[in-house]
Amino acid sequence: METYVDENNTSVVIDVGRCTQCINCQLICSITYEKVFNPSKARIIIERKPTGEKVTRFTEECTSCNVCVDYCVYGGITLE
Ligand code: SF4
Ligand code: SF4
Repeated sequence: METYVDENNTSVVIDVGRCTQCINCQLICSITYEKVFNPSKARIIIERKPTGEKVTRFTEECTSCNVCVDYCVYGGITLE
């Protein structure tokens, strides 16, 4: 199990193995803070590198509100 905690939101455990890259978390974050459904405006970044490695991390603008955690149904992000 590949879990880690990002320094920009230490209340969340990230499990990239369970993340399906559904982007629900990004959509709820961007609509909450920017009033648009736009993953690139989210304060959580969901990426897959060319090597296939998946990355989940929070930006410095993340407020640790954890609304996104409520919308992750796969266990990719959970409260610590
Ligand atoms: S962390 Fe959860 S909500 Fe976000 S993309 Fe991964 S599975 Fe979807
Ligand atoms: S914790 Fe809040 S601010 Fe941070 S990514 Fe999730 S919804 Fe956005």
